[in-house]
Order: sequence, then structure tokens, then C-alpha cells
Amino acid sequence: MAAVQHFDIIVIGTGAGGGTLAHRLAPSGKRILLLERGGYVPREKDNWSTKAVNLEGKYNTKEVWRDAEGRELHPHTNYWVGGNTKFYGAALFRLRREDFWEIKHWGGLSPAWPISYEDLEPYYSQAEHLYQVHGRREEDPTDPPASAPYPHPPISHEPRIQQLSDDFARLGLKPFHVPLGVMLDERNPRASRCIRCATCDGHPCLVYAKADAQVLCVDPALEHSNVTLLTRAYVSRLETSPSGRDVQRVIVEREGATEAYSADIIVVSAGAINSAALLLRSANDKHPQGLANGSDVVGRHYMGHVNSVLMALSKCPNPTVFQKTLALNDFYFGSKEWEFPMGHISFVGKLDGDTLKAGAPAIAPGWTLELMARHSLDFWLTSEDLPDPSNRVTLDRAGNIVLSYQPNNEEGHGRLTEKLKNLMKQQTKCRVHGHECHEGLFARSLYLGQRIPLAGVAHQNGTICFGRDPKTSALDANCKAHEVDNLYVVDASFFASSGAVNPALTVMANALRVGDRLLERLK
Ligand SMILES: Cc1cc2nc3c(=O)[nH]c(=O)nc-3n(C[C@H](O)[C@H](O)[C@H](O)COP(=O)(O)OP(=O)(O)OC[C@H]3O[C@@H](n4cnc5c(N)ncnc54)[C@H](O)[C@@H]3O)c2cc1C
Ligand code: SF4
Repeated sequence: MAAVQHFDIIVIGTGAGGGTLAHRLAPSGKRILLLERGGYVPREKDNWSTKAVNLEGKYNTKEVWRDAEGRELHPHTNYWVGGNTKFYGAALFRLRREDFWEIKHWGGLSPAWPISYEDLEPYYSQAEHLYQVHGRREEDPTDPPASAPYPHPPISHEPRIQQLSDDFARLGLKPFHVPLGVMLDERNPRASRCIRCATCDGHPCLVYAKADAQVLCVDPALEHSNVTLLTRAYVSRLETSPSGRDVQRVIVEREGATEAYSADIIVVSAGAINSAALLLRSANDKHPQGLANGSDVVGRHYMGHVNSVLMALSKCPNPTVFQKTLALNDFYFGSKEWEFPMGHISFVGKLDGDTLKAGAPAIAPGWTLELMARHSLDFWLTSEDLPDPSNRVTLDRAGNIVLSYQPNNEEGHGRLTEKLKNLMKQQTKCRVHGHECHEGLFARSLYLGQRIPLAGVAHQNGTICFGRDPKTSALDANCKAHEVDNLYVVDASFFASSGAVNPALTVMANALRVGDRLLERLK
């Protein structure tokens, strides 16, 4: 192995956490090394092919994990510069203020965070600016208070979605525009970088108009000469000093060789599952259960949300191109009849026949997959799952990832589904087919629900949780390992609970917060 090269800071992983942190640290002049196991997503027409992306999984990792029973899992996750933000739907939500508190759910308690919403709020505003979020404050009844408006106006609804929004409003609900990180300028379409296409959610953006961590954070960070990125650099292990109090060497597999790097500060941001696996793989005499794992929480409390895609079919087609503009949080904390939280209703990107083939729901009688896709409204329902210590990441004897997970807190999700079914039955009459169609619409309406299987780890979080007590958490409130003085974690691992909105903005805001702590420390 060649001589160990030393940096001020090493950041492992360039996704929502690591990429955002790199952006915050880059202007400091500190020598920063970014280690990323993936390369750059190639820019090619397949970026926007649903067949290549969804059916063939062209950009997914080919890594095979196992579930608790030893069955193969083909994880729907992506190893590239920018991490999973290259593929995300860019719905950039703040957690609700109450999500930082202890909340009673049907399935148990969602624990309090060691920081408050107010601690994170300034960083949420900064993250919304950095990721160019489009939205409108106060439409969403559960919106937490914000110190700044969204930097851009909301993305408009297409007619079918506007009609649905009007229907929901007529029923007394408060539908709102999803806060979105796409660089769409609807007032000046000719100059708009985003073209409002149908292949956004789940796809890389061919024209670099999605607010992802590569385009907005990593590439700008690399304009600073003090920042170095090594791609296809897989971090296999962290080695500590003999006392175990600090990480001394970062071991990297790159181009068939093993290399070592060192830094004053090491930040792990490899995604909640890979970061936990890395700490577990780094066990040594001083850390026999895994690095920074005296509490035995590393790898535990895996959360991924209780998620479903629900297709509401109707006789009338749904010609929407960019569907992910509308959401409902009216049942986030419960309802008049049910005192427990249910969750969040929004949309996935418009499904098509190829996408449906990939995870095919049962074909509705008299329909083809293509036809179903043309006539469906494709909802995405998210409910909170609770941090169960038995839901965990471990390693098998060969060091491969094993993910054990039993869903919990499902009653609220079932009730949320029922709520949506009832709402859909109360839509206004269809103008094309009149009353007859309206009857037919509902008579033939099918709600094809599919829970996202375990391999769908898009919202992974919670596996290296932060807290005040070193007995029950691996990280302190600043995301520094309790037991290792120079080790931080800034991906979604730190979550103490998952809330029921998409996680990325919280990961980004927290990375900015931790970035400020690091800059103070390195002064
Ligand atoms: C299809 C899809 C749609 C989504 N839509 C949304 C959405 O609309 N809104 C939202 O908020 N969230 C969404 N998400 C989730 C969001 O992308 C994640 O919450 C977010 O990216 C998590 O950030 P992270 O930093 O924890 O991990 P990641 O972004 O996954 O970054 C981890 C990085 O670490 C690298 N890495 C892993 N292991 C190693 C190693 N050993 N050595 C070196 N590098 C390593 C990976 O290659 C990756 O670049 C979506 C995810 C997917 C897959
Ligand atoms: S052009 Fe716009 S809608 Fe299409 S993938 Fe890019 S950001 Fe998404």
C-alpha cells in the first residue's frame, strides 16, 4: 500500500448528506477528499427510458443483499455521484414540527429527536434555497413555521390534477402543491432548464434540471481547488488508533487496488444501510460490536416508511405528464374518527406500461397494462414506521448486507388507504361521459394497491441514530459518534424517527447544520 495521504476532512458518499456537506465545506479552503463508490451517471437517452430505468434496472446497483430468511434481495438503490438524489422525485419536504417530539401511534411510540424543529429550521431554509425548491407556504395545514418563503413559485398542476385538487378542496380538505426541486421556469418556458417531462421520478435528469446533489453541490464544490473527488472508490473499512478514540485510516478499494487515506475528521455518508454496514465491518478490539457501537444500536431501528403505490383507474384517461405536483396532509396526524397518525398522500411520477411490467400489479379485468397506465391516477401513500430494534442491518459471514424487517404500524396506513378510496368515490361527475360515465367510472374504478417490497429501500433511515444518551444512541446531537472523537455521520442514518414525509430535505438541512459545527471545530 502506498504512503497514506492526509486531508483535513474525508467525506464518504456524495448523496443528499455527503454532497450537501461538501458544498458547505468547500469554500473553507480546507483540504477535502470525497470518496464515492460510484461514477458519474452517463448522460444518454436511456436516462429517460422507462424500459431501461424501471424494467431493466439499468442504473440500480447489481449488489445482492439477503433478507432475514437468507432470500436474495435486489435493492432498488443507486451508487453514483449524487447518490440517490440522481434518481429521486425531488419532493423536498420539511418534517413537521411535531415529528421532532414524541408522538403516540397506533403501533407504539415515535420517539423525540435530540434537537427541535427550531434548531433545524434555519438550515431547512438554506437547503430549500440550495436545492431551488418550488412551493407555496401555508397551503399545507401541517406545514411548520418557516423563516423564509420558498425561493420559487409552486409547480402548477396539469388539468386532471387540478380537477382532483378542486374535488379535494370541495370536500373540505386542504390539497397543496408539493415542494419540488426541479429547475422549471413556467413563466419563461424557452429558457427553462426543466422541460417538465414524464420521466423524472426514479430517473436521472438528462438535461441536469433536477436539483440533485451532483449538479448543485458536488460539481460546484469541485470548482474549489481544495476539494478532491475519487470516484469508484469503495470504502471497505475504517481503522482506529490503538485507543479506539479516533479513526486513523480509511481503507479504500479502487481500480483493483487497496489504498488508505487519513484525515482530521471523517464523515460517513454512504446511505443508512451502507453506513451501518461500514461501521459494523470496522469492528476491532476496542469496538468489538462494530465501530462506535458500544450502544449496540448501529444497524438497528432501520426505517423505510410504510409506502404504497395506489392506482385509481377510471374510464377517462389521465393525460398528465408531470403528475407529482399535488399532495394531502389532512390525515397526517389522524382524523376526527381516529386519533393516531395516518400519513401523507401524494403521487409518484406518471406510470407507464413498462414501469408497470417491472412490479406488475394484477391486471384489472378487461385492461392491459398500457391501458391501465393511461387511465390511472398513481398515488403514493406514506405512513410512518417506528424504530424497532429488530428491524436491522447486519452482515453475513462474507461481509454482505442482510436486511431484516417486519412492517409495523400498518393500521394507520390501511386507514389512510380507505380514506383515499372514499375520497375518490366522491369526485365530481366526469364532463365527457356525463352521469352515466360517472356511474361507470366508479363502478369500474379499481384501486390497485401494492405495498413497496423490502427491496424498495428508497427512504432508508435510522440505522445509526442520534441522541443524548450514549447507551441508546450512536451519535450525539451534532451527529458525532459518542465513542470516536473524529467520526461523524450525515446521511439518513441519524434519524431518530422517520416522520411520514420524504426524507431528503431533512438529510440536506442536517448536513448543512453539521457542516457549520465542523467549520467551527476546524477554525
Ligand atoms: C427512486 C427514488 C425516489 C425518491 N424520491 C424522493 C423524493 O421525492 N423526495 C425525497 O425526499 N426523497 C426521495 N428519495 C429518497 C432520497 O433519495 C434519499 O432519502 C436520499 O438520497 C438519502 O441521502 P443519503 O445521503 O442518506 O444517501 P444517498 O443519497 O443514497 O448517498 C449515499 C452515497 O454513498 C455512496 N456509498 C455507499 N456506500 C459507499 C462506500 N462503502 N464507499 C463509498 N461510497 C459509498 C453511494 O454510492 C451514494 O452516492 C427517493 C429515492 C429513490 C431511490
Ligand atoms: S427535465 Fe424536469 S421533469 Fe424532466 S427529468 Fe429533468 S427535472 Fe425532471
